[in-house]
Amino acid sequence: MLTTVPRGTKDILPENVHEWQYLENKIRELCLLYGFNEIRTPMFEHTELFMRGIGETTDVVEKEMYTFLDRGGRSITLRPENTASAVRSYLQNKLYADGGITKLFYIGSMFRYDKPQAGRYREFHQFGIEAIGEQSSLIDAEVISLGAALLKDLGLNDVLLKINSVGCPKCRPVYREKLQSFFKDKLTELCNDCQSRYERNPLRILDCKNPHCKELAEGAPKITDCLCEECADHFDKLQDSLTNLGIDYILDSHLVRGLDYYTKTAFEFKYLPLGAQSAILGGGRYDGLIEECGGNPTPAVGFATGLERVLLALETQKLLPPKNAYCDVFIIAMGKKAEQPAFKLLQQLHDKKLSALMDYAGRSMKAQMKQANKNGAKYAVIIGDDELANESATVRNMTDSAQTTVPFASLIDKITFEVNK
Ligand code: AMP
Repeated sequence: MLTTVPRGTKDILPENVHEWQYLENKIRELCLLYGFNEIRTPMFEHTELFMRGIGETTDVVEKEMYTFLDRGGRSITLRPENTASAVRSYLQNKLYADGGITKLFYIGSMFRYDKPQAGRYREFHQFGIEAIGEQSSLIDAEVISLGAALLKDLGLNDVLLKINSVGCPKCRPVYREKLQSFFKDKLTELCNDCQSRYERNPLRILDCKNPHCKELAEGAPKITDCLCEECADHFDKLQDSLTNLGIDYILDSHLVRGLDYYTKTAFEFKYLPLGAQSAILGGGRYDGLIEECGGNPTPAVGFATGLERVLLALETQKLLPPKNAYCDVFIIAMGKKAEQPAFKLLQQLHDKKLSALMDYAGRSMKAQMKQANKNGAKYAVIIGDDELANESATVRNMTDSAQTTVPFASLIDKITFEVNK
């Protein structure tokens, strides 16, 4: 127990951390270009926020939240996603105060009591963006294009963009009824989850993963045939914009989100080689959520992407960068007397902003050379009895093995010059 992580979590080890940094840097660069600003919200919130912000009938809220009473008796939940928190912060901090659109992005850990498997964890990381305060379909297209640009910048091919419209509280009830009458005589054949969805949330039957439910849903009426004029117009314009930007997509009438505050656009990027966990990025419009959380009616659109899945996709495509060893100088002290001068030199090199390492265990020359190589050192600086007597160090270029003797007085300048040249 003491030496294993809880199920569904994992360490990100030093040998892999550069992969995360690579991905996060790409994300930050892109968000800067599109004018999205980073927000960092707490890892936990009042449980009520997620009940409202995600919806009490969703799997996430019903089955997957890490909820506990804190020592003050308050119900607290580890965030299972970040949109609700972003909206809470937007309202609490009046991020709307300047008027116009508020563009936010986040990167961080999320927590869901999910069934762990490849690409599915209990602590996982999401990058997401939220554009709050604009109803134009242009911003839906921009949000989608940022997602597409990220996957493209990373070099991921084989991605598929699916889009749909889920209508709005005006047109959806008509569709809901049509859908219920379509499933009425198939009700007993649906899985247990879908049977309870039938009353509460029938649109969700369409994206059930159960193969039999999928079969039963074939030929179901399409919501896009039931959209009101405003929603139909929004969806048409979105498609025009995507075509204008050269972003390929397919229409998928089974791509749905059942809750009232999801409106109009729904989309998903799939990375097909990942199989069961192929959904790598999902999002849509949620014009009703801000009001649901206590604000004025405010349109908004966003997406979230699972970073573990993106990394998995990059790994299968061999698109991850190699780890660069980073060590300018390895100092080799031979003998006790050399230890303090070498240690001082180490500090002086750090002061010059060079990466420098030394061995503290008094190992043999051969062992220390090996260490220098393992760390990818560009130079080794050797200080032993002879060097101390001559007040000079031996500087070895680790690439071509050339050695020079450099007086202590000019050692720092010489190394700084060589490393930076
Ligand atoms: P969602 O918030 O459920 O729409 O999920 C958005 C994205 O987060 C998905 O497309 C996945 O890439 C990722 N994701 C969701 N749940 C998990 C999980 N348990 N483990 C890893 N990634 C996840």
